[in-house]
This record gives sequence, structure tokens and C-alpha cells, in this order.
Amino acid sequence: MENFAYHRPAKVADAVKAMKKAKDGKFLSGGHTLIPALKQGLANPTDLIDLSGLNKGGVKVGAKSVTVSAGTAHADVAADKGLKKAIPGVAILAGGIGDPHVRHRGTIGGSVANNDPAADYPSACLALGATIHTSERKIPAEKFFTGMFSTALKSSEVITAVEFPIPKKSGYAKFPNPASLYAMVGVFVAQMGDGSVRVAVTGAGPGVFRVPEMEAALAKNFSAKSLEGLSVKSKGLNSDMHASAEYRAHLIGVMARRAVTAAK
Ligand SMILES: Cc1cc2nc3c(=O)[nH]c(=O)nc-3n(C[C@H](O)[C@H](O)[C@H](O)COP(=O)(O)OP(=O)(O)OC[C@H]3O[C@@H](n4cnc5c(N)ncnc54)[C@H](O)[C@@H]3O)c2cc1C
Repeated sequence: MENFAYHRPAKVADAVKAMKKAKDGKFLSGGHTLIPALKQGLANPTDLIDLSGLNKGGVKVGAKSVTVSAGTAHADVAADKGLKKAIPGVAILAGGIGDPHVRHRGTIGGSVANNDPAADYPSACLALGATIHTSERKIPAEKFFTGMFSTALKSSEVITAVEFPIPKKSGYAKFPNPASLYAMVGVFVAQMGDGSVRVAVTGAGPGVFRVPEMEAALAKNFSAKSLEGLSVKSKGLNSDMHASAEYRAHLIGVMARRAVTAAK
């Protein structure tokens, strides 16, 4: 690990200022991705700008949406009674991230900013049509996740909250990698108030993506049965030592049916 200057701003605006001044700065939230990267020398910032005292508003359930402050730990999202009632799929998702240590330190803001292709939250954001609130604008999830480990964020932009519209029903199912607990495949299903359905997949490809064929079938009949016989092509999916692209394609069908069955 190289030396760096450490900043602990009291306001989001000060964090942005510190980042603009830094030669090669990095924001720090729960540190569960960034600290290992620093230790391994994969990131060598000149300045570390600690956001851990900021964006601590927790979970706020409104009439039409639930807003989660960026500094909220996964365990607090999973335990929030209002969120569990409004969007059960998000509570299930947060409660299945990593192990208890990861869930108590890792934050929704850090997870979304990092956009790991096997992270859980991007699927909920895309399926629910979430809005990412930042220090300077509001970004729809469709425009936010731009590719593997990349997002629409500018280098000095801080995520302040994630706002999820409240659906009629939501469900999440993941097949975790037994070693890391990240998703080999995770599928989030949301049935919205107008009857439309959105299905988003994480872990299977280089980035989170939707499955229009499943969405159309579920909009006609929201049941696991209506997904029978639908298959996802393996072309373009990840293939590695953990699973082939064909296996991941198969898992998408299985996880989608489980997510629909679990949806409430
Ligand atoms: C053993 C292990 C198992 C895990 N298993 C899972 C899993 O099953 N599913 C899953 O989804 N994740 C998993 N994770 C990741 C975990 O969810 C972390 O929470 C996530 O990687 C990053 O969140 P963080 O708060 O720790 O962010 P940090 O590590 O502090 O930061 C991550 C990145 O986001 C940037 N950043 C952080 N906050 C902001 C912000 N507010 N605005 C702009 N940029 C910001 C940082 O600059 C950095 O680039 C696992 C991690 C570990 C170590």
C-alpha cells in the first residue's frame, strides 16, 4: 500500500471539493472493495476521501418510492421493516449479500458505484427503474450502469441515495458462488403497478441486463409457469472456472422462476 492523504469531510460538498483538488483521489465508503484493492496495489490514490460519516439518512419509505441513503449498510437495508413491506425483493437481496461482516460494513452507495458485474444491487436498480441521486443530478438506472465496473458517475460525483419505485410485487433469487457469495447468476423480478414486468439479471454477463422475452411472458401471466420453455442464449455470457456460459444461461431460467415464485 502506498502513502496517501486522508480526508474526512463533514459535508458532501466538501467531499466533492477535496476530490476536485486531489491529483488522483478515491472516495471511500464501507471499504469492502476499495481497501483490498489498496492492499493489493490495484489502486494507488494520492488522496482517500472518506464518505463514511456522510449520507447516513437510512431508509425512508414514501407513498410511491423508497429512498435509501448511500451510506446505509446492507444489513440495515435488510432489517428495515418499512422496506421489507414495500419492496420485499430488495430486503431479501440485501440480506443475501456476502457474509455478516460484509453486510455490516458494505454500503449501497459503494456497491452501486463499484458496479461489479456479479454484485446484487444493480439488478434491483435496473428491474425497479431506480434513480441514483448524486451530488449534482439524478440518474436513471438504465443510464447509470454503463459496463463492467463502470458507471455514468464523473470522478468527483458522490452518490447520495438510491430511490426505488414501489412495485406491486418483487422477488430476487441468486445462485451464489460458494467461495465469494457474489452472484453466479442473480435475477430480480418486479411487477409494477401498471401491470408491466421487468426482469434484470446480474452475474451472468459483463454487466447487468434485462430479459424482454421473460418480461413479455410475465406481463401476460405473472407465474413461474409462464417462463417454462423460455431460454436465454449463452452467447455473450461469462464463461470462467466457476461456470460455463451455457450453465449460466440455464441458471437464469431457474433463478427467474424462483424469483417469480418468491415475489410478494
Ligand atoms: C468477502 C466479500 C463478499 C462479498 N459478497 C458480495 C455479494 O454477495 N454481493 C454483492 O453485491 N457484493 C458483495 N461484496 C461487496 C460488498 O457488497 C461491498 O459493499 C461493495 O463492494 C462496495 O461497497 P463499500 O461500501 O464497501 O464501498 P468501497 O469499497 O468503500 O468503495 C467501492 C467503490 O465505490 C466508490 N464509492 C463508494 N461510495 C461512493 C459514493 N457514495 N459515491 C461515489 N463513489 C463511491 C469508491 O470510490 C470505490 O471505487 C462482497 C465483498 C466482500 C469483501
